[in-house]
Amino acid sequence: MDVALATAWLRAAAGSVTAEADLLTRLDAAIGDGDHGVNMRRGFTAVVTVLDGTEFTAVGDVFVRAGATLISKVGGASGPLYGSAFRAFGKALPPGARADLPGLAGALHAGLEAVRKLGGAQPGDKTMVDAYQPALTAFEEAVAGGAALPEAAAGAARAAGDGARATTSLTARKGRASYLGERSAGHQDPGATSTWLIFQALADVTA
Ligand code: ADP
Ligand code: MG
Ligand code: MG
Repeated sequence: MDVALATAWLRAAAGSVTAEADLLTRLDAAIGDGDHGVNMRRGFTAVVTVLDGTEFTAVGDVFVRAGATLISKVGGASGPLYGSAFRAFGKALPPGARADLPGLAGALHAGLEAVRKLGGAQPGDKTMVDAYQPALTAFEEAVAGGAALPEAAAGAARAAGDGARATTSLTARKGRASYLGERSAGHQDPGATSTWLIFQALADVTA
C-alpha cells in the first residue's frame, strides 16, 4: 500500500459511509440514539478535506492524520474508537512511502487493539469488534497463505460482513445499545455495519 492507495481507501470509505448514512442512522435509531450515520458522514467528510489539503510522503501519516481528524470531529463513541484505530494503524505501519502485506496485517492488528483498549469490548459484545476481529483474522490467514492484497482485502470484507450480520442476534454489552439489555437483540449493530463498509471500501479500491 502506498500513499495513493491509502488516500483512495479513505475516500472510498467516505463515499460509502455517506451513501449509507441513512442505513447507519436507522440501525442506530433502533438500539442507540440515531446518530451513527451523521457521525460517520461528518467525520469522513472532514477526513477528505484534510486529504485534499495535504501532501503526504509517508503512508502511515495518512492514517495518523485521518485518525486525529475523526477524534476531533466526531462526538459519539465511534469517533474516538475509529480515530484511535486509524491512528494506531498508521503508527504501526512501517515508516516510508509503502507498506507490504505483513506490515498491513500488523497495523490492522494494532488498530483492533486500540479499539479494544479504549472501549473494552470483547468479541460477542455486539460492537464494531464483531466485524473487525473476523476481518483481521481473515486478512491474516490470507496473507499467511500467500494471498495478494486484493484477495486478502476481499476476504476481510466478506468476514466483516458476516460478522456484522451476526451481531443481529447478540445482546449488547457495550455502548448505548447495552442500556436496552436483551431488547437490543434482533437488530444489527450500526458500528459493526460501518466497519464492514470500511473493509469493503478497501476491497473495492484494491480489486
Ligand atoms: P454513540 O453511541 O456515542 O451515539 P455512534 O452512534 O456513532 O456513537 O456509534 C455507536 C457504535 O459504536 C455502536 O454501534 C458500536 O459498534 C460502537 N461502540 C460503542 N461503544 C463501544 C465500545 N465500548 N467498544 C467498541 N465499540 C463500541
Ligand atoms: Mg449513536
Ligand atoms: Mg450519539
